[in-house]
Amino acid sequence: MNTRTPSESSSQDRIQWMRLSSCLLPLAQPISDAKVLTGRQKPMTEIAMLFAEIETRDGHRGLGMSYSKRAGGPGQFAHASEIAPTLLGEDPSDIQRLWTRMCWAGASVGRSGLAVQSIGAFDVALYDIKARRAGLSLSKLLGSQRDAVRCYNTSGGFLHTPLDQLKRNASASLERGIGGIKLKVGQPDCAQDIARVTAMREHLGDAAAIMVDANQQWDRPTAQRMCRIFEAFNLVWIEEPLDAYDYEGHAALAAQFDTPIATGEMLTSAAEHGELIRQRSADFLMPDGPRLGGITPFLKVAAQAEAAHLNLAPHFAMELHIHLAATYASEPWVEHFDWLEPLFNERLEIADGRIIVPTRPGLGLSLSEQARRWTCQSAEFGTRG
Ligand SMILES: [Mg+2]
Repeated sequence: MNTRTPSESSSQDRIQWMRLSSCLLPLAQPISDAKVLTGRQKPMTEIAMLFAEIETRDGHRGLGMSYSKRAGGPGQFAHASEIAPTLLGEDPSDIQRLWTRMCWAGASVGRSGLAVQSIGAFDVALYDIKARRAGLSLSKLLGSQRDAVRCYNTSGGFLHTPLDQLKRNASASLERGIGGIKLKVGQPDCAQDIARVTAMREHLGDAAAIMVDANQQWDRPTAQRMCRIFEAFNLVWIEEPLDAYDYEGHAALAAQFDTPIATGEMLTSAAEHGELIRQRSADFLMPDGPRLGGITPFLKVAAQAEAAHLNLAPHFAMELHIHLAATYASEPWVEHFDWLEPLFNERLEIADGRIIVPTRPGLGLSLSEQARRWTCQSAEFGTRG
């Protein structure tokens, strides 16, 4: 018989040590989407990862991550370094309370954007600890719906890639067991977009799952015209046809066209996603856990999306999102990017169009030696046991 009182049986463990690392992951070649072709951004050459490693008095360890592209990495690291001491001595199980505590610690710089992205690295690490301590994968800790989640390839379909190579990349992805192919569109010359999508549909056949992503580069009239033209291509979705914050414009497209509209990856808080859901701006919602502040806000977004009967397709960071996608009621699509693979010792398995949800405890990830070599800045807090 268990004679312990509830307070005695609750966790007495405490956070005693943390390390933050800023790691610059180089990309094999400069990456261009429509934002580069319209002159708004430079080609992407690296990704700035923010890793949080947390250790407790009882010896439990967790790894969390956040990231930024093109700019913001040093800022995320600096903000995370400022708020880190607020976690020392706290119960690692009280994740909701600690998220709120970190948010208040940096309240004057807001509840979205870079401030919450810094929180995200800690939040993911705290969930990793909780799942590891339970001896469960993160998806099992949260309550899994499935053992594998369908996935699609994005990295082969960027705009710097010539058409012949695009076709070869798509075929290679499908042969590898990836379930769908995403093409970047949104070029200044719409005819080129149409030509690439037409060629890909012919190349892969009618049954292939194909998505397109305009990365916010159409104005409303152009989006209207392109969505109408793309209706004939039986696409899985049309992604970010408009500015990420044009809730009304996306809602109008979603209401008019049979092809589902996907958006949400650029939003950086649960509140912003709530507005997207309230205005019915997306058929596929694309939350990004690190970008909106970690697993805690992601779960709030997913709960709202599920209640609104939306489809889900988390953006980027498949190593984290595979676990979160496994818990959603209807089967999401997970974005397969192999870019982050060198950072970890483990690899995700793919079979029959799906990523297998890892069964290792927690996220099932450990930092590689390569990730340590790419680390340009780190800071430690507290003392190690
Ligand atoms: Mg996208």
